[in-house]
Amino acid sequence: MATRTVRFILLVLLLGTARYGRAQADRAARVEALLGSMTLEEKVGQMTQLTLQAVSATRGTADTPHTLDMDKLRQALVEYHVGSLLNVYDVSFPLAYWRDLITTIQDVATKETRLGIPVLYGIDAVHGHHYLREGTLFPQNVAMAATWNPDLVRRSNAITAVEVRASGIPWNFSPVFDVGRQPLWSRFFETFGEDPYLVSVMGRASVEGQQAGALGAPDRVAACAKHYVGYSMPLSGKDRSPAWIPERLLREFFLPPFAAAVEAGVASVMVNSGDVNGEPVHASHYLLTEVLRGELGFEGVAVSDWEDIKKLHTVHRVAATEKEAVRMAVLAGVDMSMVPLSLDFHDDLVALVREGAVPEARIDEAVRRILNLKFALGLFEQPYPDPALSAKVGAPEHRAVSLQAAQEAVTLLKNEGGLLPLSKQARVLVTGPGAASLPVLHGAWTYTWQGTDEALYPEDTPTFLEAVQAEVGAAQVTYVPGTRLYDEVDIPAAVAAARQADVALVVAAEKASVEQVGSIEDLRLPAVQTRLVRAVAATGTPVVLVLLENRPRIVREAVAQARAVVLGYEPGMRGGEALADVLFGDVNPSGHLPFTYPRHTGALVHYDHKFAQEQDTTFGWTGYNPQWDFGFGLSYTTFAYGNLTLDKPLMGADDTLAVSVTVTNTGDRAGKEVVQLYVRDLYARIAPRVKRLRGFEKVTLAPGEARTVTFRLDRDDLSYIGLHNRPVLEPGDFEVYVGGLKAGFAVR
Ligand code: BGC
Repeated sequence: MATRTVRFILLVLLLGTARYGRAQADRAARVEALLGSMTLEEKVGQMTQLTLQAVSATRGTADTPHTLDMDKLRQALVEYHVGSLLNVYDVSFPLAYWRDLITTIQDVATKETRLGIPVLYGIDAVHGHHYLREGTLFPQNVAMAATWNPDLVRRSNAITAVEVRASGIPWNFSPVFDVGRQPLWSRFFETFGEDPYLVSVMGRASVEGQQAGALGAPDRVAACAKHYVGYSMPLSGKDRSPAWIPERLLREFFLPPFAAAVEAGVASVMVNSGDVNGEPVHASHYLLTEVLRGELGFEGVAVSDWEDIKKLHTVHRVAATEKEAVRMAVLAGVDMSMVPLSLDFHDDLVALVREGAVPEARIDEAVRRILNLKFALGLFEQPYPDPALSAKVGAPEHRAVSLQAAQEAVTLLKNEGGLLPLSKQARVLVTGPGAASLPVLHGAWTYTWQGTDEALYPEDTPTFLEAVQAEVGAAQVTYVPGTRLYDEVDIPAAVAAARQADVALVVAAEKASVEQVGSIEDLRLPAVQTRLVRAVAATGTPVVLVLLENRPRIVREAVAQARAVVLGYEPGMRGGEALADVLFGDVNPSGHLPFTYPRHTGALVHYDHKFAQEQDTTFGWTGYNPQWDFGFGLSYTTFAYGNLTLDKPLMGADDTLAVSVTVTNTGDRAGKEVVQLYVRDLYARIAPRVKRLRGFEKVTLAPGEARTVTFRLDRDDLSYIGLHNRPVLEPGDFEVYVGGLKAGFAVR
């Protein structure tokens, strides 16, 4: 490049950085000036977050409107200086109502309070803006992870940001950076799966999509990495119950995604409601301040989860009074309390500062972060919903991304004798509890918290049954419910209908549910659904088992009866269509499992287990024998791998190793393949894992087309958390695995 061009580019970069630096300095000055003019009560108000219910007169339903209580709103905002609100009062709102609601709230905040500080409104929009009646709903995160396509995660979250911001809301409590290694857990579907690397890549893409780099763009929102840290691994599987996570494993599995979130510039972090090794995280100075701030370098806002400061007293019993709980949490590092219903937090914290039990400097630190976020979001300039964004809500191009995501998520797990794709001329029986239900297609966090209020679902969202009818013509489709989720409707009727059909699509399902409501006692698919599959299969009509579930339910017996198995996870508003597209061959499936699918309830072993877990046990069982392996997923075409090469046999600790492999579509239709790179450390001081995912790339290949994919490995990819809980890279022999090939190298 000519020197002048280089000089010009450098100048532009320098000016850009200088402008960015100046903007930050300006903002910091505005924050300090405002902070300096605030009373203690006003500062503590900024740290207080109430739920909408606390300032409401009536809750609203599918057909009756929600109403604000203006006296309660003024008491909160004017008298108590409350700086943040969240949530719906149980049900989703239409766009026009959101815009009125936020306008009213911001009018009070900016025109009736002494300092006119806008409210920071937060919402859960965890798979699209599901608290907006016209919102675009995407597959749940675990399904998004099954696409192995970070670009889709980025695009869907950018769309969510537009729709959230169109409602006048600048803050989204998403994404979950928890790692899904406990299949019993009721929030498994909210995770990007079991692997910390995959979770980090997908979570980062979500933050990038929502925030688009620097905050402040009028169509972007502040993201929130939750639930820091160790929430997803409750020992018993029950939500918000104790986790035992040795520090080494916390750092190996659960911390890296949050480090990735901080690196991606996430604006906020929500704290884990549970306890880790006996210490509730809301009271952990070590985790919230020493690790999150000191080690990870997080500078944004740390918000509590729902009522969790109070629960240090009422549930965890580490604080003898509610006031003591406030002291513990604020000193541990919580900046904002999602109270969410009372104003006691405010009174208690003001008193604690006056008594000298909490230094005002700690209050200033928290409020500085909150004000900084409000300025960064541009709320002081524009606190109101931007009318220009309204037209984009639910736009066809948004819905198209939801369809693509669902199509790429659907995972083909069994296809005996090439039963799929089905002929569109086939006579089809559709049966099973998931066939005609919208809630099981969407999962929780859909129009309501649990997602089960069918009256709120838009009439034009097709169920699986309706999508199949549209695909092949209603005349060819017979529908018999067969069973509900837990009890029989009429299995003999399903059997009789199966005898008249060429193929039976049995849609097994799990109820949409989340948090404590979603706790289960047994990972098996409800027995009645297995009976339905067995009875239908006994007719000799081939069975395709379609699974809609929010965690891997044990399906061993049903799978044995089915000729084909398709996992839909909870694919969202266009999930029915996506499944029909895959079943009838419009779309070649490319989803791959983002978790290890267990075969037995008593064998919940992950793909990245230890060698000791592979030994034969006394009774001849193998220790690792999942139903399907992590990363598994079939296609209607075939792929062959070849030419796995490393650019050097010996790697220095600070070198980069290039790993290349060629993948060829050897079948007769176009397809997408997920090239996965795993690394094995042969011997290490801490017993090594059999393999760890260290790279992946999804490639689209025409029939006969070949592509060479190159990955680069460095010390971070090869190190692990050692004896003293710090990353170590030990010299020695390693192996890489890609698509059934392997190659070795050594680190010296
Ligand atoms: C959940 C969070 C959520 C919050 C606000 C809590 O119960 O754990 O994930 O963001 O509620 O709705």
